[in-house]
Amino acid sequence: MNITEIYKLYSKNYLVDTDTRKIRENTLFFALKGDNFNGNKFASEAIKKGASFAIIDEEEYHNNKTTILVKNVLETLQDLARYHRKQLKATIIALTGSNGKTTTKELINVVLSKKYNTKATKGNLNNHIGVPLTLLSFTPDEEMGIVEMGANHQKEIEFLCSIANPDYGYITNFGKAHLEGFGGVEGVIKGKSELYNYLIKNNKTAFINSDDELQVQKTNNCNTIHFNSSIKLIDASPFVKLSFNSNIITTNLIGSYNYNNIAVAITIGNYFKVLDVDIQSAIEKYTPTNNRSQIINKESNYIILDAYNANPSSMKVALENFARLESKFKTVILGDMFELGSSAEIEHQYIVDLADSFNFENTFYVGENFHKTTTKNKKLISFSELEDFIKKNPLENQKILIKGSRGMGLERILNFID
Ligand code: ATP
Ligand code: MG
Repeated sequence: MNITEIYKLYSKNYLVDTDTRKIRENTLFFALKGDNFNGNKFASEAIKKGASFAIIDEEEYHNNKTTILVKNVLETLQDLARYHRKQLKATIIALTGSNGKTTTKELINVVLSKKYNTKATKGNLNNHIGVPLTLLSFTPDEEMGIVEMGANHQKEIEFLCSIANPDYGYITNFGKAHLEGFGGVEGVIKGKSELYNYLIKNNKTAFINSDDELQVQKTNNCNTIHFNSSIKLIDASPFVKLSFNSNIITTNLIGSYNYNNIAVAITIGNYFKVLDVDIQSAIEKYTPTNNRSQIINKESNYIILDAYNANPSSMKVALENFARLESKFKTVILGDMFELGSSAEIEHQYIVDLADSFNFENTFYVGENFHKTTTKNKKLISFSELEDFIKKNPLENQKILIKGSRGMGLERILNFID
């Protein structure tokens, strides 16, 4: 069966699923393979649970009634998304960058939803599977689509652009994340810039922050829309407050690094003619989820939980921001940053030197990478060591910043802090 035929089946309901635990009626089930599972084995279960067809790539699971045998299920999913995108009338905005993609995506989503039928990437579905799934979740009814694109190596963004065909693009920043796969910071800049290259080649448009030299430099040959120049940061202690076109916006977002994320959402809202009052109310209502910079008020401590992810650039801004908070009694608990390859040692030491320089009342470093650094502060090799330590030495009346890579699971420490 070719893509046009599969598209006919898909476009009856515009539903695709890849997980039999969350399958929907009349969906097309794509039997993807992972390191630890083979979707082909679940094809018959998918049909029992209501899928209309299962797309598979192993002959032994094939029957002529409910399965469609293709060469490669993943490639078929990507081809179907590419084909579907070409039929869509929605304006697509693509986002990439080292930090702040999901936050920015959510902000643009709430703003544009005030005026348009808008759909965005769900959660963090931003890779070679997530981007196709995102596009396939769009129906002919949507007017605006926002697609988050993640990458940890070269050519990935170029490939995702070939599927999503964005009309507009924005790169949040060129930071120190996934240094291992990209080959250093220069590699990150090159890899992320694939979005600009795509926009240039196809005569599309980038949103840019004129204060960011790299954004300006890399979009030299691109159509650009600059941030609304009236947007000014007023305060970030800890919640960001800003003004634009004589409106004051008070947000639930922590840290001045969120300024750019909010500014681009306002700029895009302005550009697509969403009313200022609607932009304001959408942003004021937005609250981040998923351990992305949440405030947790415990009985005795005030916690900024930022344990969703961490890399040298987001760690640096989080620390600088925390240092600006008013309080003598501050504690930071930092967990290892992953995926740094040969830069791991230097980058962990850099963060230790920065954090030490603030002389917080308590500074704890958790994980094997931090354990190798030189510091005057406390090092704990694992989460369980941290847990034991905090149980024996309870924190009281502190403002606490918790940040580390997802895999460190630092949010678990909340169970041991009152
Ligand atoms: P992922 O790579 O996991 O998809 P992401 O790019 O989608 O991450 P978010 O989930 O929006 O990023 O934010 C993750 C963390 O990055 C935040 O909790 C915050 O610490 C930091 N962060 C957010 N925005 C910025 C920014 N503009 N610059 C630097 N750090 C940021
Ligand atoms: Mg994300």
